[in-house]
Amino acid sequence: MIDLRSDTVTKPSQGMRQVMAEALVGDDVYGDDPTVNSLEARVAKLFGKEAGLFTPSGSLANQLAIRTLVNPGEELITETDSHIVRAELGAGAVFSGITTRTWKAPLGKLSAQDALQLAKPNSGPYLVSTTAIAVENTHNFGGGTVQPIDEIAKLGVEAKKLGMLLHLDGARIWNAHVSSGVAFSEYGKHFETVSVCLSKGLGAPVGSVMLASTDRIAKARVWRKRYGAGMRQVGILAAAGHYALDNNIERLADDHSRAKKIAIACAEVSPLLIDPNNVETNIVALDLSKFTATAQEINSELNALGILASALGPKFLRLVTHLDFTDKELEQVLIELPKILKRTLVIE
Ligand SMILES: *Cc1c(COP(=O)(O)O)cnc(C)c1O
Repeated sequence: MIDLRSDTVTKPSQGMRQVMAEALVGDDVYGDDPTVNSLEARVAKLFGKEAGLFTPSGSLANQLAIRTLVNPGEELITETDSHIVRAELGAGAVFSGITTRTWKAPLGKLSAQDALQLAKPNSGPYLVSTTAIAVENTHNFGGGTVQPIDEIAKLGVEAKKLGMLLHLDGARIWNAHVSSGVAFSEYGKHFETVSVCLSKGLGAPVGSVMLASTDRIAKARVWRKRYGAGMRQVGILAAAGHYALDNNIERLADDHSRAKKIAIACAEVSPLLIDPNNVETNIVALDLSKFTATAQEINSELNALGILASALGPKFLRLVTHLDFTDKELEQVLIELPKILKRTLVIE
C-alpha cells in the first residue's frame, strides 16, 4: 500500500528504534527522566522559549496551552478550518470551559486584519472577552499553507497592545521552517505558547512538546497530570524525538518536492483541481467542488490500485507526503492518479 492519508503513518526507522532501546530513562512524573528533560529543554531553546513539556499528542499540547491562556467563559479565536476547532472534538469547551469564534481565510492563510477584526478583548460584563488567538502553521486543512511571518509579527504586536495572547499550533512548524527559511526562534518569539509535533513529518511514533515561560509550563505540568498524561519512563519516546530532530528536519524538503510534483500532475489534468503554486509543503489538497465526482469516489479508485488518500470532505481529497514515501512510489502515483482523474472528472 502507498499510504498518503497523513504524515502520521510513518514507522520508526531502525536507527530511531536503536536510540529508543538505549535511552536513559527515569520516572518523569518525578522529573527524573534525563531524556525527557533534555528534549524539553532542547525544543524550548530552539524556539527561544524558557521551558517545554512533553505530551503524548499534539492535541494535548494545544489543550494544555489553551488551559493556561483562557479562563472558563472567555474565548479563543482562530481560523475556521483550524485543527483546534475542527479536529480536537470540542476539547477546549469540554476541558477548559471556553468558547470559540472563527474567521474564514482562503487556504487558511493568516491575515492579521482578519483576526483583529473578530477579536473583542476586555468586553466587560455583557459580551464574551477574547483572551487568546491561535495560529496554525503550517495550516493542515488549508493545504499545508505556510503563514507569512510579517502577518504573524503584525498580529503579535497588535494583540499585545490589546492584552490578548497568541498560541502557535506548530504541529508542522518544521515544514514551515524548511519551506520559508524562517528560523524557529523567529516563529516562536511572537507567541506566548507553542505546540510542536514530533510524530508528523519528523517520523517519531509518539510525542509533542508544549513550549512557554517557566511559570506557565509549571501550571501546564499540573494539568497534564490531572488529565492523566503524567508518564513514567517515557524517555524511550523522547529519545525518538531527539533522533527525529537530529535526522529528519532538512529532509522535509524531499517531501515538499514530491508533493509539488503530485500537484503539478493533477493541475495538468485540470487547473481547477489545485494551483501547484499553493503547494508550499507536504500536503496536496484537491478541490473537487467544480466536478461531479466526490472525494470518496476518487479515493475508492485509488484504493483499488493500492494508494490511500483522505476524503476529508465530500469535495476535498488530501494526499500527504512523508518520510516513508519513496521516489519509486511517487512514480506510481504520478502515473495512476492523473489516469483516475482523467477518467472520473466531469465538470459540473
Ligand atoms: C496533527 C495535528 C495536531 C495534533 O494531532 P495529534 O493527533 O493530537 O497529535 C495539531 N494540530 C495540527 C494542525 C495537526 O495537523
